[in-house]
Amino acid sequence: MSKKVLVLGEVREGSLRNVSFEAIAAAKKVSGSGEVVGVLIGDAVANLAQELIQNGADRVVTVEHPHLKQYTSDGFSQAFIAVTEQEQPEAIVFGHTALGKDLSPKLASKLQSGLVSDVTDIEGEDDAVVFIRPIYSGKAFEKVQVKEGLVFATIRPNNIAPLAKDESRSGDVSSISVDITNLRTIIKEVVRKSTDGVDLSEAKVVVAGGRGVKSEDGFAPLKELANVLGGAVGASRGACDADYCDYSLQIGQTGKVVTPDLYIAAGISGAIQHLAGMSNSKVIVAINKDPEANIFKVADYGIVGDLFEVIPMLTEEFKKL
Ligand code: FAD
Repeated sequence: MSKKVLVLGEVREGSLRNVSFEAIAAAKKVSGSGEVVGVLIGDAVANLAQELIQNGADRVVTVEHPHLKQYTSDGFSQAFIAVTEQEQPEAIVFGHTALGKDLSPKLASKLQSGLVSDVTDIEGEDDAVVFIRPIYSGKAFEKVQVKEGLVFATIRPNNIAPLAKDESRSGDVSSISVDITNLRTIIKEVVRKSTDGVDLSEAKVVVAGGRGVKSEDGFAPLKELANVLGGAVGASRGACDADYCDYSLQIGQTGKVVTPDLYIAAGISGAIQHLAGMSNSKVIVAINKDPEANIFKVADYGIVGDLFEVIPMLTEEFKKL
């Protein structure tokens, strides 16, 4: 049986996040020969509908309301429930982002469905679809098949390749009017901490520093390497606890989970809680003075040395490319 699948297009600062396109690719597998319907929720988001269609959505439904300008779980769940009531989907796919992690359990509970969260791969399609997700901090993988009811999954960013963009694709864009009421919170203003460009959870390259970086200034060579590689800077909790950097950079069990193409770990020992956030990266390079450091057990390439010598050398070499 082919399925109708709803995919939430996640918008940040007026643009669609990449994970939205990865979610469409995942939804295609779940739908079989069915229909993939993009959902856009916000204040003024309809202008992004075409981009979802060009990336594989068959059509798009928008819900626009001034109270949806900023994400609140109350507002977005009212909007998304209205879409499910109209569309009666057999499946829903979200990104496993901060928004997706907050909204999906609330919706699953309202829709009386299960939830397969943090999916990193999908085998088969339609009724034979099998979701693969890491468990025990990435030490094992679980295969999950949903036998009945609504299929609801969140997918980890950077794991499922998006479909090739096709600018000639076209599809219907419709809107639903929802009276967003009884909000327990209304966000008046968002004050963002300044970040250095690339979004850590979606970055293709992450240069992460640990306690071995030794100070806030010690992060400067890592930032330079990340800039040259078009990547983002991350950190271990050791570095965050020592006040060398902000907690928004923390990677691991109690921080962000990242799966970049290249993860460079500098001055990080490789505690199990750190590995939980990065061990699924495609290529891991570890730089550590201690040849016995645990990080070398998960590294594809290990450099035993002082990061303050190795990182500038790497930066200079990459600049030549
Ligand atoms: P250290 O363990 O101190 O390692 C520093 C490393 O730097 C050493 O291996 C050393 O050889 C190397 N080094 C020193 N100088 C240099 C140099 N000049 N050049 C090269 N190498 C050098 N940790 C996380 O990262 N993320 C989490 O989400 C997280 N969650 C946790 C949750 C719980 C409940 C608990 C209990 C712990 C958690 N931790 C987490 C902490 C974790 O256990 C470790 O304490 C932490 O990861 C250690 O950080 P580190 O590797 O930077 O520091």
